[in-house]
Amino acid sequence: MIDILSLKRQEALKDHCGVFGIYAPGEEVSKITYFALHSLQHRGQESAGIAVSDGGKLRSIRNLGLVTSVFNENNLNKLKGYIAIGHNRYSTTGGNTKNNIQPVIISSRGKVFAASHNGNIVNALELSKKLGNQKRISTSDTEVLVHTINKAKGMKWSEKIMNAAPLFQGAYSIVACSKKRLYAFRDPWGIRPLVIGRLNGYYAVASETCALETIGARYIRDVNPGEVIEVGKKGFRVLGYIAKPNRKFCLFEYVYLARPDSIFNQQLVHEVRTRSGQILAKEAPVKADLVAAVPDSGTSAAIGFARALGIPFGEVLIKNRYIGRTFIQPEQHIREQGVKIKFNPMRKIIEGKRIVIVDDSIVRGTTMKKIVEVLRKCGIAEIHLRITSPPIRWPCYYGVDTPDKKQFIANGKTVSQIKKYIGADSLHYLSLSGLIEASRQDKNNLCHACFSGEYPVKVNTNFRKNVFESNC
Ligand code: AMP
Repeated sequence: MIDILSLKRQEALKDHCGVFGIYAPGEEVSKITYFALHSLQHRGQESAGIAVSDGGKLRSIRNLGLVTSVFNENNLNKLKGYIAIGHNRYSTTGGNTKNNIQPVIISSRGKVFAASHNGNIVNALELSKKLGNQKRISTSDTEVLVHTINKAKGMKWSEKIMNAAPLFQGAYSIVACSKKRLYAFRDPWGIRPLVIGRLNGYYAVASETCALETIGARYIRDVNPGEVIEVGKKGFRVLGYIAKPNRKFCLFEYVYLARPDSIFNQQLVHEVRTRSGQILAKEAPVKADLVAAVPDSGTSAAIGFARALGIPFGEVLIKNRYIGRTFIQPEQHIREQGVKIKFNPMRKIIEGKRIVIVDDSIVRGTTMKKIVEVLRKCGIAEIHLRITSPPIRWPCYYGVDTPDKKQFIANGKTVSQIKKYIGADSLHYLSLSGLIEASRQDKNNLCHACFSGEYPVKVNTNFRKNVFESNC
């Protein structure tokens, strides 16, 4: 979701989130949601929330922090009911306030509606203007979306969703609930993931299949691009389609965002990453003594790279597991400190050796530059970098946390200049065709805008103007 006020301040605010929902009378839905959100923690670490309906009352707990710090046995026990939705939020500057924590809940004439959103509504500013003087408590596009649904024609929430959804432009994977029903819907491009599972005869929806596995649910299928689903007393039903599906699934989910044990479009993320490493080994082979990953995001790809060249794979950098993702720190100097305390190299293993370091992506170059620095201090003989995605040059407007254009190291620098800046002996990126081959998806069914600049959904000109004017 995006932050409307920040947009007005002409800043680009970006995040990607994890969503979950379940309809299961007789089950402890709050605890199930807790465990699902815990397994989706990688998609958002800023805040967490759960809303539960018992058919009459909707109660919620939402707070800043990780899932394990927001919830405990005590407060989860208070969330009694049979429908639950949950959310993990991830954002950078501006929107880190309590009011922006999801699920967003509105009450209107005795009716209640709650929604958790992963994505980014690119025309939120226009939609927010159409809401006029509607009272709002947050600055997020999700609240705009919920009010737009509430104001749409129809007596039932299902009718309102069907009538409002065609107005939303951009990426949205939404799990919502009323007092008596669970809803799930996804933008017609299917940019962000959303999957359906079955648990003891009931239904659950989640951003990733790893969440379904964690709670013991069986993955059935994805929510189709553009599909609107309702689960209620009469069971599961497809309400219809927002628009004709035109699949453009985010390629970066395979590269970095998702957990390796999740499956999207029949492809296990770990295997896509392993293949990316294998293909990169063909595109840019190297003679070396050891292949290592930047843990954990580069691990699957490093295994594939090492296997393809017959070079041993080993651990070189030990990650401190109790530090958050360095990328989410807002200020550059904090980010730099973060990298230093995040990875510790094992000097004894690498001294005098030719090492290949594999990572999934380079964004600003901060992480890699610091890693190369600490490895050089260990007396490494050669350091070769292999990146299993193409250079990132374009901002994402569909719900991924990317900085503005000029902060990408690949903008304004050739690969050889980046290599020099980072201080490596060699540097190679995987080609876009290589990455698409690894994903085993049809090129036309993918969004690769961050690599190619080919945006599948028209970005609202004001939005674009705001972002580009302020940042480029
Ligand atoms: P940087 O230091 O800015 O070059 O960041 C590169 C590192 O950030 C890589 O190791 C990636 O695994 C990771 N990364 C890439 N995209 C994102 C993202 N959207 N959010 C958080 N981390 C990311």
